[in-house]
Amino acid sequence: MLNYVESHAPLESCGLLAGRDSKVEKIFFVQNQAHSAVRYVMDPIEQLNAFEWIDSNEMELLGIFHSHPTGPETVSPTDISEAAYAVIYIILARG
Ligand SMILES: [Zn+2]
Repeated sequence: MLNYVESHAPLESCGLLAGRDSKVEKIFFVQNQAHSAVRYVMDPIEQLNAFEWIDSNEMELLGIFHSHPTGPETVSPTDISEAAYAVIYIILARG
């Protein structure tokens, strides 16, 4: 996950975590459609495909991650207003 995020810096990258019983078994790296250093928009097709894969493998969505390659280490107001799912949100920021 960290390698992936590093390789896309300075653009934000994002993805989904899926698994069973709160244990992550699968990581999906989803294209950031915004191609931006300050925000992310998950590619809707990739996101949908991931959700279908998760369903058909009887897993559940556990988390959503994205990077803040140029900081801050905290969530942005946009992150909060766009957080649509009741899952764990992970932000990978450069320290
Ligand atoms: Zn963010």
